[in-house]
Amino acid sequence: MMKPTPLEQIIVAMIREDGPIPLDRYMALCLGHPVHGYYMSRDPFGPEGDFITAPEISQIFGELIGIWCAAAFQALGAPDEFHLIELGPGRGTLMSDMLRASRVMPGFRDGVRIHLVETSPALRKLQAARLGQTITWHDSLATLPDGPSIVIANEFFDALPIRQFESRNGQWMERRIGLGADDRLVIGLSAQHLDRPPGTDGDILESAPLRDDIARELGSRLAASPGVALVIDYGHAASALGDTLQAVRRHKFCSILDRPGEADLTSHVDFESLGNALRQGGALPHGPITQRQFLLSMGLEARAALLTQKAKLPERNVIGRAVERLAGENQMGNLFKVLAATSPGLPTPYPFGSP
Ligand code: SAH
Repeated sequence: MMKPTPLEQIIVAMIREDGPIPLDRYMALCLGHPVHGYYMSRDPFGPEGDFITAPEISQIFGELIGIWCAAAFQALGAPDEFHLIELGPGRGTLMSDMLRASRVMPGFRDGVRIHLVETSPALRKLQAARLGQTITWHDSLATLPDGPSIVIANEFFDALPIRQFESRNGQWMERRIGLGADDRLVIGLSAQHLDRPPGTDGDILESAPLRDDIARELGSRLAASPGVALVIDYGHAASALGDTLQAVRRHKFCSILDRPGEADLTSHVDFESLGNALRQGGALPHGPITQRQFLLSMGLEARAALLTQKAKLPERNVIGRAVERLAGENQMGNLFKVLAATSPGLPTPYPFGSP
């Protein structure tokens, strides 16, 4: 058996001291422990990393979102100064592609102030190198300035910790991480009161307290200052029971208990809850629609055709495959959803609300 990771040793000591910990605490440690957390020290994206995200698949993804931002800028009345905020910007690829595409809109480039909400020092470094312009970083939404804003979040909410409850003998139990034989991590259950009737044995209910808090905070920002937000993530349009927590290491699924700190842990975003939390904060949610619907409406095919025309043969195939991956029915196209939110009083942004 492999030696436990440094983070595993820390977690084992923690549990020995205080008892089993809920999943959200475990996830927060695995992803965000200041030294050993998954995002804190490494670049997890791309072919050599553990997973690949839409902006890393093709520049077209960010360009189409940049065009969406340019339209949002107009809907906000083309302010002289506005905040372009990205939550969890990864390598900075999406922001870079968005900025290139939105430059065509007069006034955008002069008015834009870039804010990145990012907790990982390693990724902040990559973002600085990639963007090479004035950026303000934030640890959370709390320090973002007031004023007109456009907020983008791609695969951010799926990385926030969740809790899981399991129905057993007419009672909800919470899944917790405890210690088994040889001090190995195991998943256990402990009684937990929930304000909702228990289901059938084995039903799994997920809740994402931090995700809801952040969505509410975003909602209240949009209620206080004019703005629009776009959230893209994999998940389901309506709340549903089921275990969606997954661990990925080097492009392969593994157990969430394997090599803590070395695997990416994510879960599906419940867009119904996310929309409700935004509304509770005071914003108006629109959608969700599928990523496929969003990208096709934004002109994915025309943009791909133009790039293909300019490209040499091997590259043409790459573009075709990227389009299929981003928008294909059985690929990211349907699994990923896009939700917009606006300040009350602003028009419904295209392509939300269009048939
Ligand atoms: N949007 C990027 C990266 C997605 S991965 C892309 O599409 O490629 C998740 C990102 O969110 C990483 O940048 C990670 O460091 C950041 N992140 C995770 N949890 C966070 C938190 N609680 N606060 C701020 N950023 C966080």
